[in-house]
Amino acid sequence: MDAESRLSENRPSLRDLPSVDLVLKTPAGLLAAERFGRSRATLAVRAALEEVRACVLAGQLAALPSPDHVALAAGDTLAREALPSLRPVFNLTGTVLHTNLGRALLAEEAVEAAVAAMRSAVALEFDLATGTRGERDDHVRDLLVELTGAEDATVVNNNAAAVLLTLNTLGAGREAVVSRGELIEIGGAFRMPDIMARAGVTLVEVGTTNRTHPKDYAGVLSEDTGLVLKVHTSNYRIEGFTREVPARELATIAHARGVPLVNDLGSGTLFDLARIGGAQSALAHEPTVRETVAEGADIVTFSGDKLLGGPQTGFIVGRAALIEKINRNPMKRALRVDKIRLAALEATLKLYRDPERLAARLPTLRLLARTRADLASRARALADPVATRLGDGFDIEVVDCASQIGSGALPLETLPSAALAIRPAGDASGGRLSALAGALRELPVAIVGRIAEGALLLDLRCLEDEAGFLDSLGHIRVPA
Ligand SMILES: *Cc1c(COP(=O)(O)O)cnc(C)c1O
Repeated sequence: MDAESRLSENRPSLRDLPSVDLVLKTPAGLLAAERFGRSRATLAVRAALEEVRACVLAGQLAALPSPDHVALAAGDTLAREALPSLRPVFNLTGTVLHTNLGRALLAEEAVEAAVAAMRSAVALEFDLATGTRGERDDHVRDLLVELTGAEDATVVNNNAAAVLLTLNTLGAGREAVVSRGELIEIGGAFRMPDIMARAGVTLVEVGTTNRTHPKDYAGVLSEDTGLVLKVHTSNYRIEGFTREVPARELATIAHARGVPLVNDLGSGTLFDLARIGGAQSALAHEPTVRETVAEGADIVTFSGDKLLGGPQTGFIVGRAALIEKINRNPMKRALRVDKIRLAALEATLKLYRDPERLAARLPTLRLLARTRADLASRARALADPVATRLGDGFDIEVVDCASQIGSGALPLETLPSAALAIRPAGDASGGRLSALAGALRELPVAIVGRIAEGALLLDLRCLEDEAGFLDSLGHIRVPA
């Protein structure tokens, strides 16, 4: 007998394939229809039967699956499809403000305010005192003024929008002067020269990559200058033989020619980072928004979801007359924030009025303030339960590591931290390590670490829900 006919002899008959109806009437079929609706379940069962048919025709099946099996397969598919695409993740990368993982976690107060705003109509642009139209910015303007010392403030979608709107308002059809040392790319398509072009502003570069002097700026200012822009070099540092013009001096130069100084702070912070972590604080002083305003910047732009620890927003604070102009720009409408984020933002900013309890309430600060000693003792307590869940195939060790703030805040500074270092037992090849990282990403709440020096590092800095972490890890399918 040749191979071909042996194959067709073993092939089950497609006539015995159960009908869609029969599969839907099995317990698993009924459950799938109950959970996902009859029409989704019918489609999934039909697809599962189609797959069986294809396998039979390809000679890959010795026997037909039972109707129950087909229903279970369809149910699995539907359950997988029902998982949110925007899945929750345990961020154990060691980067606190991880842009790809959604940056700042909101304080409970902000979460509650956002949820309340989602459920109900709110006085978004409505003055309850007078019954007349109000302004969206009213809910946070006074807080921002109070916290930054600026004359006025407005809020837009993110800091990229804040920069775009400011440039367009103050500089369209005119020139913006920037040091060559500050022509940054933040990531994605956010490159300062491109943003300028889109804002309708002509870029005038001054100085060199490493050194820019006061006379470089003074030499190009003219009637055509719309603004002088200073940009926080968020994600890199130029070191060695360098010179930049301090903001205060730059303000004097710009103001002498009647030109406004705009300072894009990037992350921006409302508190002194050097106060974090007590006496052994590993962080350098980062200029606060208040200091930057006091140094004479006419406009300061910064982010809501970086060090500030709030929802994605961008702030424009500064001189009242300029903010008024910015608010009149028709682009403002296209960049505005919705009621949900505004509610979360107001609640977040209010926490700053109580600095003593800020670090306890604001997750970003709380995570940055955790000490290595604390994290190492948590790592030691977690090592055994994690080992139990991973089985014998992996060695687990508690190691010192360094976390980062992320999102371009203090790019060279690290925070002493502790991690669980996981290595495949007796196997130096990287295959099992990346298989393990893959299995962790498939968990109900994905666990994302980082691979370094032949180990998967789970940095504990951002792990607060340890029970939830172990629970999720309990579902792991350990790679062979
Ligand atoms: C992060 C950053 C931006 C962009 O801010 P988003 O809030 O991400 O839009 C702009 N400028 C600088 C200097 C930054 O660091």
